[in-house]
Amino acid sequence: MVKADAYGLGVAKVAPALYREGCRDFFVATQAEGVRLGALLPDDARIIILSGVRPGREKECALAGLVPTLVNTAQVQSWASCCRALGIPAPSVLKMDSGMGRLGLSAREVRGLLAQPELLKALNPCMFISHLACADEPAHPLNQQQLSLFSALAAEVRAVLPDIVLSLANSSGIFLGEAYHFDLVRPGAALYGINPEPENPNPLCAVVQLSLPVIQIRHVEKDCTVGYGAAGKMPAGGVMAVARGGYADGLLRAQSNRGSGEVAGVRVPMVGTISMDSTMFDISALPEPQRSEIKEIEVINRNLTVDEVARHAGTIGYEVLTSLGSRYFRRYLKT
Ligand SMILES: *Cc1c(COP(=O)(O)O)cnc(C)c1O
Repeated sequence: MVKADAYGLGVAKVAPALYREGCRDFFVATQAEGVRLGALLPDDARIIILSGVRPGREKECALAGLVPTLVNTAQVQSWASCCRALGIPAPSVLKMDSGMGRLGLSAREVRGLLAQPELLKALNPCMFISHLACADEPAHPLNQQQLSLFSALAAEVRAVLPDIVLSLANSSGIFLGEAYHFDLVRPGAALYGINPEPENPNPLCAVVQLSLPVIQIRHVEKDCTVGYGAAGKMPAGGVMAVARGGYADGLLRAQSNRGSGEVAGVRVPMVGTISMDSTMFDISALPEPQRSEIKEIEVINRNLTVDEVARHAGTIGYEVLTSLGSRYFRRYLKT
């Protein structure tokens, strides 16, 4: 799963690395993302557009070799007409809504399709997928319901299309067990270090580290307020660092006065509201001379995880990563 610029991490680096590891099926959200990805990968990579194909864009999609996920009957019809007109059996992915309540054909619509061999031939479906709504809550009853419905329809689809690839699980779905795996799994979050099992310790490694450069250190002489709205407070005798990097860089403003950074393993709380380009930290907990000399404050690392940062901001790790700004200097390490 490399949609949204590979969850904010840079698809130009991430997708070729996944290809080198043997991945051949790549999913993105939009056709524009697919076109960009096509230029980054060898021809044997299959690029699947999750939102399907917009009216009028079918031909461009087919000629670019992109595979649309057909998510409703209108897309099914327009894709079939396009492929008939072009005279090419451009492949497609069929998506069923098994309980997510978002995109996808209903079970009835899937069965209707299976009864129309001519239409199926024009669509040339290579994959049948569905998406789980609550996979990160293993005890949620919807998981089992979605699995049952998908399994039933998958068997009917396979009876008509024996070579079709079946796929249900996102990252958290993979951790629900083998029954959810079918032929192909679609991890996104887990590839990028987000915990797929929020109730348990993260079985995966941290992938991202983010450090902000310190641009000023201030020894507070008398009690003062910090930043916009005077929302932060520093006591006399405290030491404060101003780091470059703010909400314009995707440091979620909702973690103002709640989030923290880390310096050599010591937590340093954020103080005041996060500004567009800067964030203030109370670094009083650091010993001298270190605190007068710090050059950087880490705001994501293996202790201060993407998931923890998300909790401080009242959101999920996905949003932390996809918000990562474009002004950062990015370095990719080979592991
Ligand atoms: C985003 C997405 C995924 C990946 O989900 P993660 O939770 O990031 O693993 C899988 N399938 C579909 C249809 C998606 O939209």
